[in-house]
Amino acid sequence: MAFKHIPHSNPVPADKRAELLKNPGFGQAFTDHMVTIRYTHGQGWHDAEVKPRAPFLLDPAASVLHYAQEIFEGLKAYRAESGEIALFRPDANAERFNASANRLAMPELPPELFLQAVEELVRIDKDWVPSGEGSLYLRPFMFADEAFLGVRPANSYIFCVIACPVGPYFKGGAKPVKLFVSENYTRAAPGGTGAAKCGGNYAASLVAQAEAIAQGCDQVIFLDAAEHRWIEELGGMNIFFVFDDGTIVTPPLGGTILPGITRNSLIALAREQGLSVVERPYSLDEWRADAASGRLTEAFACGTAAVVASIGEVVAASGSFSIAGAAAGQVTTKLKTLLTGLQRGEPGDPAGWVRA
Ligand code: PMP
Repeated sequence: MAFKHIPHSNPVPADKRAELLKNPGFGQAFTDHMVTIRYTHGQGWHDAEVKPRAPFLLDPAASVLHYAQEIFEGLKAYRAESGEIALFRPDANAERFNASANRLAMPELPPELFLQAVEELVRIDKDWVPSGEGSLYLRPFMFADEAFLGVRPANSYIFCVIACPVGPYFKGGAKPVKLFVSENYTRAAPGGTGAAKCGGNYAASLVAQAEAIAQGCDQVIFLDAAEHRWIEELGGMNIFFVFDDGTIVTPPLGGTILPGITRNSLIALAREQGLSVVERPYSLDEWRADAASGRLTEAFACGTAAVVASIGEVVAASGSFSIAGAAAGQVTTKLKTLLTGLQRGEPGDPAGWVRA
């Protein structure tokens, strides 16, 4: 599809941009442009545009504001030492976007259009991709903008991509994170939307995340909705456990957790290293006992935003515990080094994950 380019009359001046790129934080500074594509029932996708970032004009009855038909993605563009910019597995995001669209009764976006949209934005805002530790976080999303008040799938949608330069996700940088187990709230039930990346899942998680922050923790961990026993995932990351016999365990994808692209990549990288990765339910009780006995040597969380973060402490009403030696976890460090190396364009990308 041809994208119409609407020029920016007033982009952020180069010196101000350079200042922002020095210390971008996470999700606070935005690039100059955005991409939008519209969908109308009967007509399909149309009016693809690359234009100055600006507010939307929405009717107060736009159905997203009432029934939350909204999905999104998160991926990063990295600048290699050579200066070249590359995306990490954007095709996997395109695929997950459509899985989310199906669950929310929204139209699929052809994957090539998703990739084209992301690439158009990276190209026009290439000067916003930080070098060194930072990266450009891309946020593709889609919402229902039809004006009506009736509960049914909308007939019109807007797909949009915005971007922000980002630094480390956690304020403590590489320091092991402290997690709070939510024993009051759950994130997703069997048959629900847990595997979809829809805004509603995050709205439902905010009160639990606020509880975690109030307890002095960095993030919340959710247990399963049926038994309140099995570890599922964090508010915005998947989780892995490393044992003294070299085995790695991660909760299985059963429809209630998000199928993380970082999770999938780390499973593949660990297996390439000869490590055994088992996808199986793992309970909070097992975790506490294994941390105490020393059988569990490391635990880490992973996702696009924070990449890989070691877990140092777990706070839970039913008993808190810590993971000895978390800061120097060998398996965590090795996997993180392998993954970030690939993302930054180091050689050794047999699966073709990096898209320049
Ligand atoms: N779980 C949840 C709930 C998330 O929001 C994310 C971030 N997208 C992840 C896991 C990690 O997914 P990914 O590795 O694709 O970023």
